Amino acid sequence: MPRDTTLAPVAERVADLNDRYRHHAAVAVLEHALRDPQVGRIGLVSSFGAESVVLLHMISVMAPQTPVLFIDTEMLFPETLVYQADVAQKLGLSDIRTIRASRAAVAAHDPDGLLHQTDPDACCALRKTEPLERALGDFDAWITGRKRFQGQTRETIDFFEAEGDLRIKVNPLAHWTRDDLQDYIVNNRLPRHPLVAQGYPSIGCAPCTSPVKPGEDPRAGRWRGQDKEECGIHFINGKVVRGPLPKTTGETAA
Ligand code: SF4
Repeated sequence: MPRDTTLAPVAERVADLNDRYRHHAAVAVLEHALRDPQVGRIGLVSSFGAESVVLLHMISVMAPQTPVLFIDTEMLFPETLVYQADVAQKLGLSDIRTIRASRAAVAAHDPDGLLHQTDPDACCALRKTEPLERALGDFDAWITGRKRFQGQTRETIDFFEAEGDLRIKVNPLAHWTRDDLQDYIVNNRLPRHPLVAQGYPSIGCAPCTSPVKPGEDPRAGRWRGQDKEECGIHFINGKVVRGPLPKTTGETAA
């Protein structure tokens, strides 16, 4: 479906949305984002990882028919696939869209499934960024679970961000702390990803995620030993860009 051309430029709408909702709480930001005509067609992108259940639960209460895009890299832990089906069913989420790389692309670029060992950026591009970018073609905005406390590349994120002139990225939990997440999960008796109890506070693909020791940064187990914090490949104005992320553009929600 073509993008709504009656909407004002992305940067203009983002500035206005941040002005209007700057002092709102996470739930209010999400509620407005789901309904505000300036945001347009919106979906949630979820990895069904360690903390994903917070936004999934909020969505299930406000609008369970909201499209939820689940990126199955085909490198996920089997526990994640079971958890994804379980959470979707328990929360009554009615529009889960599982997205994957095309067979042809995998056959051409990663036929033996070992690309992550030699070129993790290319593997993330193949299995996450490109399929996500394709799926997001139907949307004017997407909701992510990114938070400021998650590290350098995320420490200044706002509730609303411009992803080039393509679409809006909504980060309702931008200002939440780890304790806020924990409290929300406990207070709402939400199911935890089974690997959290086994020392995985942040969960991505199986080959690129290791358990974290007490005292370590929760994301220390992601791409351990590699100079890599995010998927590493971004789409800016429709073009693939490698390298560090400029402040006002996007990266995938790893
Ligand atoms: S996290 Fe690892 S296995 Fe998953 S897509 Fe990226 S490089 Fe590949």
